Amino acid sequence: MEQLKELVHTAKELYRTGLVRGTSGNVSIRDPENPDRMWITPSAIPYDEITTEDLVQVDLESGTPVRGSRKPSSETPMHSAIYRLRSDVRAVVHTHSTYATMFACAGEEIPTVHYLIAEIGDRVPVADYAVYGSEELARNAVEALKSAGANGALLKNHGVITVGENLSSAYVRAEIIETVAQLAFGAKLIGRCETLSPEQLEETRKKFVSYFAVSKR
Ligand SMILES: [Zn+2]
Repeated sequence: MEQLKELVHTAKELYRTGLVRGTSGNVSIRDPENPDRMWITPSAIPYDEITTEDLVQVDLESGTPVRGSRKPSSETPMHSAIYRLRSDVRAVVHTHSTYATMFACAGEEIPTVHYLIAEIGDRVPVADYAVYGSEELARNAVEALKSAGANGALLKNHGVITVGENLSSAYVRAEIIETVAQLAFGAKLIGRCETLSPEQLEETRKKFVSYFAVSKR
């Protein structure tokens, strides 16, 4: 299936660009043929070794693997919960990208210092902490995305989660969150963190086209 090749490619891109390190992070897509299932990257297999054979198909309701011989990613509950809650979501990306995770460790939202953050929403919420891989973390992540009406969130003391209507939008959003986190960190060091208002972000959003299209909710 073409989409599975794209999933593997995206996982490798995350690794190549440094958004994930080691075997941290994970990526999934909603199964294009069965919306009640997803395909997710495996647990503990190095990114440069992953092939489509290593992907695991998981039932969204039960969270159990249906196809594939590998162990699915430890964050399977979080990916499943997001697909169950948001029917518009077709792809989910999870990273521990450094600058964004620094804000997550501080328990602070990324200041809206750059217009690109409009792609995520009016703000990037911080989901409450829960141990990785848990149902509680899944609930907290879903709640954060929902409460902010956002396409991405920070996971307190952990990392980043982004969603998209396809793999490239979820990927680009993970990249944007890291980029804006770097810019905000720098602006804070310089000593002035000028943020954009929700109105200015909405103005930006109206200009976004193609894969930058934000789903209107
Ligand atoms: Zn993680």
